[in-house]
Amino acid sequence: MTKSLPRQTPKHAEMNHFSTLNDELVIGGKTISQVEQLIGSTPFYAYDKSLIAKNITRLKLALPEKIKLHYAIKANPYPSLVHFMVDHVSGFDVASKKEMLLALQSGMPANEISFAGPGKNKDDIQAAIIAGITLHTESINEINRAINIGENLGIKPNIAIRVNPAFELKSSGMKMAGGSKPFGIDEELLPSILNELSHDKVNLRGFHIFAGSQNLKAEAIMDMHEKTFALAQRLVSLTSCSIGYINIGGGLGIPYFPGEQRLVLDEISANLTVLLKKYRQALVNIDIVMELGRYLVGEAGVYICKVVDKKTSRGSTYLVCDGGLHHHLSNSGNFGQVIRKNYPVAIANKLSIEAEQTELVNIVGPLCTPLDILADKVNLPISNIGDYVVIYQSGAYGASASPRDFLSQPDLYEILL
Ligand SMILES: *Cc1c(COP(=O)(O)O)cnc(C)c1O
Repeated sequence: MTKSLPRQTPKHAEMNHFSTLNDELVIGGKTISQVEQLIGSTPFYAYDKSLIAKNITRLKLALPEKIKLHYAIKANPYPSLVHFMVDHVSGFDVASKKEMLLALQSGMPANEISFAGPGKNKDDIQAAIIAGITLHTESINEINRAINIGENLGIKPNIAIRVNPAFELKSSGMKMAGGSKPFGIDEELLPSILNELSHDKVNLRGFHIFAGSQNLKAEAIMDMHEKTFALAQRLVSLTSCSIGYINIGGGLGIPYFPGEQRLVLDEISANLTVLLKKYRQALVNIDIVMELGRYLVGEAGVYICKVVDKKTSRGSTYLVCDGGLHHHLSNSGNFGQVIRKNYPVAIANKLSIEAEQTELVNIVGPLCTPLDILADKVNLPISNIGDYVVIYQSGAYGASASPRDFLSQPDLYEILL
């Protein structure tokens, strides 16, 4: 008789990119209690500059030199962080007029800023043309609108065409292309659009082929890159003007949930090298841009809140904290997840777990809703009122992606250290 092996409980990826001091988490050279004293209270998000810089350096070394990195500001639009990114990436991708103004004021040159997003209105397009950034147009109406507004302003608009490819990014956390989508223009419509596009009226700078987000499967990303380069070559051959860049999208994910592993870049990079060589002639003098959000900043940020109550209800222990869903919607499981899973979580002032006795706890926030979960059934060092809870992997889609006014709780702080 064969005995089945004990099933291993999947674990979170190690959060050992941060250092510690006396069992306490250190961010930007300061312990969490020092950061609290600096700010004056909890909850807060803290982002570590040196970790962001180190991560980007590692990525640049791994990728072929020809690939230019852009930062997608919507992942984390905290102004100090955006300003910090100027020296570390070649361009910014924005998804609203407010993000565009932030990008412009950061010192990033206008010709390295692109503006994507469906539903841009007249004001958005007018501002983009005046700013001199590149509109990533998402429909024929939008192209025509840009042409008309440009004519009225007496400025020739810079545009790129966002393409909705026929393929999709497999195993992706968020599919943004393939099939019927509100994003971009279906690739099969492009031959006639490109044929009719008047180059006297617009500068067509490039194509934007973004297939999806949060992917941890190297093979799926490589497959996407192969299809993206093949499509890029077809599109370039359809236009008579000289294209400046192809934005091949991003999609690189980070591990959030138990069982997920960090992407290994070797194969992805080797595959990109092969593709750059294969399409060298078609893409001569054309920049290749990769746009990333969470991969650049997600791992360098934490969300910190404090235990304000500890109670037992019919055998289950609850740590009630001063922060929760209203600051960190994605950690609560209400930002696109089908089944709620825990982000990596710890007691930030009791990090050497071996030395401590542990207990099974549920960590919740202060909101009067059962949705306000910070962590469900986790084994953590025995903790008390006043201890700090840290949610890792929180540098992207945190503060700006959360309903901060919900239940009118006090606001939170952010700090880049
Ligand atoms: C959201 C978005 C990104 C960033 O996605 P990440 O998963 O954070 O890397 C990049 N490009 C476009 C067009 C987006 O909409």
